[in-house]
Amino acid sequence: MKFGGTSLADMERIRHSARHIRREVDEGNQVAVVVSAMAGTTNQLVKWCQEASPLHDAREYDAVVSTGEQVSAGLMAIVLQDMGITARSFCGWQIPIRTSDIHGAARIQDIRADDLDERLGDNQVCVVTGFQGISSQGRITTLGRGGSDTSAVALAAAVKADRCDIYTDVDGVYTADPRIAPRAQRLERISFEEMLEMASLGAKVLQTRSVELAMAQGVRLAVRSSFADPDAFQDVRDGTNFGVPGTLVCDEDEIVEKQIVSGVTLVKSEAKITIRSVKDRPGVAAAIFGALADEQIVVDMIVQNISDDGRQTDITFTVPDSEYDRAMAAVSNNDSFEYETITGAKGSAKISVIGVGMRSHAGVASSMFKALSEKGINIQLITTSEIKTSVLIEEEYAELAVRALHTYYGLDREEE
Ligand code: ASP
Ligand code: MG
Repeated sequence: MKFGGTSLADMERIRHSARHIRREVDEGNQVAVVVSAMAGTTNQLVKWCQEASPLHDAREYDAVVSTGEQVSAGLMAIVLQDMGITARSFCGWQIPIRTSDIHGAARIQDIRADDLDERLGDNQVCVVTGFQGISSQGRITTLGRGGSDTSAVALAAAVKADRCDIYTDVDGVYTADPRIAPRAQRLERISFEEMLEMASLGAKVLQTRSVELAMAQGVRLAVRSSFADPDAFQDVRDGTNFGVPGTLVCDEDEIVEKQIVSGVTLVKSEAKITIRSVKDRPGVAAAIFGALADEQIVVDMIVQNISDDGRQTDITFTVPDSEYDRAMAAVSNNDSFEYETITGAKGSAKISVIGVGMRSHAGVASSMFKALSEKGINIQLITTSEIKTSVLIEEEYAELAVRALHTYYGLDREEE
């Protein structure tokens, strides 16, 4: 069971979350808990490091920002003990959770689970700090912001858990952002692959890395609300089902009724840049995108047209609005390729429809374009993958497009 910052925001919330743990213990489950820092804490710690010195030592940054989790792990253990549950806290190094030595962005390499296994076997609740580990040099490391989801999945794999429940402030994964599409519905199940697309396309429920890891390790994830009444939860214990709201992220095989489209996502503030009449010869794309990579600019969509005359072609790509100026500079001041003009603009939005059913169903892309044209929305760029179709449109129409597609694919919740 993993609890995020909002689920641990103050003593009252910690107590409430602890009642979810007690419920699982009472049902006879062995429980390992992973906690994040109390809401806002990590931001404050990061700020202090910056104030101390803008060019601070990354190892000391990790020593500072990892402390938030130690506080919440200790407090959670105290609260559990107060409820009569045998519990203790663990920092990453005490397990140990071994990581690479890339401070601030470390990767988990190995978790020693013998001690945990033994304690879990004795029905002790082990409360483990998320987000942190220890390097081969014996220094404290952190996994990058939002990393405690990844800690939880790695720990679940290490103790061979039946499931990794991620408790957060929403009750699951939705077909679209409910603030944009009010009739969005909670998905009972979603496949790892769909969740990966959703996570990286702006559905901020789970850290993308944690989903990658869960998929690789076969850890079934559930997204659930810690804000719900702990006693109103009733697990149907056939191993796969929930008796309660939540979304199960699992293998595609476990999803009986595959939706063609399971979700519509939106990423705003995309900028597009077009390089016209680029010489059509080997090495041009490498030169353009090499220049962007050298500047650490992450490129999203890329479109290159086939050249009319075999000599010249146009290339368009997108970057976040915030990277627009740097990207323009990187491709403009570059004599490694020839071109006629470079134009660009900020203020586009990328809308994607996602679903594993796309693999076997024709016509998803065409119906997407039809739904958009019915609303008079112009498509600037199109890209696809096996389970996703994305279009770039004017930002102004982003919400309208999400709602239109949501309705078009029959994802709207029935009106009560
Ligand atoms: N406390 C860390 C952060 O705010 C890790 C996490 O919440 O997952 O980034
Ligand atoms: Mg988080």
